[in-house]
Amino acid sequence: MTTAIYAIGIGSNRRGRHGGPAAEVAAAIDAIGGIVAVSPVIASAPLGPSIRRFANAAVLIASDAPPPVLLARLKRIEAAFGRRRGRRWGARVIDLDILLWSGGVWREPRLRVPHEALAARSFVLAPLAAIAPDWRVPPVGRSVRQLAHAVDRPRPRA
Ligand code: ATP
Ligand code: MG
Ligand code: MG
Repeated sequence: MTTAIYAIGIGSNRRGRHGGPAAEVAAAIDAIGGIVAVSPVIASAPLGPSIRRFANAAVLIASDAPPPVLLARLKRIEAAFGRRRGRRWGARVIDLDILLWSGGVWREPRLRVPHEALAARSFVLAPLAAIAPDWRVPPVGRSVRQLAHAVDRPRPRA
């Protein structure tokens, strides 16, 4: 069995039993296991209907689990942290998304890797660029660093 590297995006905008969003992010990092690298935790503005600020981070992990098995594991951690399924983008104690997988691309209805919104989200790319700037994101192959720079300078629409 081969060990894969995954980049996981972590977000919280709600207090849980560990404390505020930054404390929930730190506790989630402890819960994930197999950690290879940890980004700084950044604060970012809310997305969608939420009004609370987010804490976001990214980690690299080494894991023997294939992507669907890892996703199931991450969802169990979300549930253990008190996350309620329901409104996407609503207030949540913890959100654990698979951003990148060293195996490349995984495409099924419930699991798409690279994460579909990766290239559009500075709050994901900024922490990720701190730990994996040279990772080339399929299918185009631009580096995380390039994507992070591009999202900071969106091209004006015609
Ligand atoms: P977003 O995906 O836009 O960041 P979200 O993280 O708030 O939104 P969730 O409610 O956590 O959305 O997840 C919705 C569904 O997205 C999950 O049930 C999962 O099956 C699916 N999904 C697809 N690709 C991924 C991925 N790469 N990582 C995590 N979940 C994924
Ligand atoms: Mg998410
Ligand atoms: Mg999610």
